[in-house]
Amino acid sequence: MHSSRSLYTTPIRRVRGLPAVALVAIAAAFAGYTGARGVVDVVRPTESADRGAVIPDGKSIPATDVGHPAIARLDPDLRAALAAATTAAKRDGIDLRVTSGWRSRAHQRQLLDDAVARNGAHRARQLVATPDRSAHVQGRAVDIGPTDAAYWMQVNGSRVGLCQTFANEVWHYERRVEPGGACPEPATDASE
Ligand SMILES: [Zn+2]
Repeated sequence: MHSSRSLYTTPIRRVRGLPAVALVAIAAAFAGYTGARGVVDVVRPTESADRGAVIPDGKSIPATDVGHPAIARLDPDLRAALAAATTAAKRDGIDLRVTSGWRSRAHQRQLLDDAVARNGAHRARQLVATPDRSAHVQGRAVDIGPTDAAYWMQVNGSRVGLCQTFANEVWHYERRVEPGGACPEPATDASE
C-alpha cells in the first residue's frame, strides 16, 4: 500500500521540482500544440461551408432553393430533374421539399456514426451508406419530403428521370433513367 502511494506521488514531486526553464519549455510545447491545431484552421472555411449544407433533422428546404449548398452542390442533371419535378408536383397540388441533398464526407460519417451508436453496426449499414458509397456525398441523391411529396415522387419521378433507389427509403431519389424511362427495381437497402 505504501509503495503504490509513493509511486503515485513521485511524478507530482518531480513536476514540483522542475526548474522554471522547464516550465517555460512546457508552456512553449503547449503553444506549439495550439499552433498545430492552427493548421486545421486552413481547412476550416470548407468545413463551415459543409456545415452550411446541413439541413437539420425534421427540417426541409424548398426544392427551388438553388442557393442552398445542399442543392447548389448537386449534379446539374439531378438539379434540373428536381426543378422539373417541383413544377409538375405543384400542378398536382404537392409542395415538394428537400430534407437532404449534397452532404460532405464528414457529415455522412457523422450520420453513420450516429446510426451505429443508435442501432448497432449491422443495422446502421442498412440505414446509412458509408462516405465512400453515399450518392449524397457525390451530389447524386436527394431526400424528398414531406411524406405526400415522397409518395408523389415514387409514382411520378420517372417522368423526370428520378427513381427511388432503396426499397426502405421512400424519400431517397437519384437520377437513374432518361426522363420518361422505366426505373429499375430499388435495392433492398443502403448495404447492397
Ligand atoms: Zn438519401
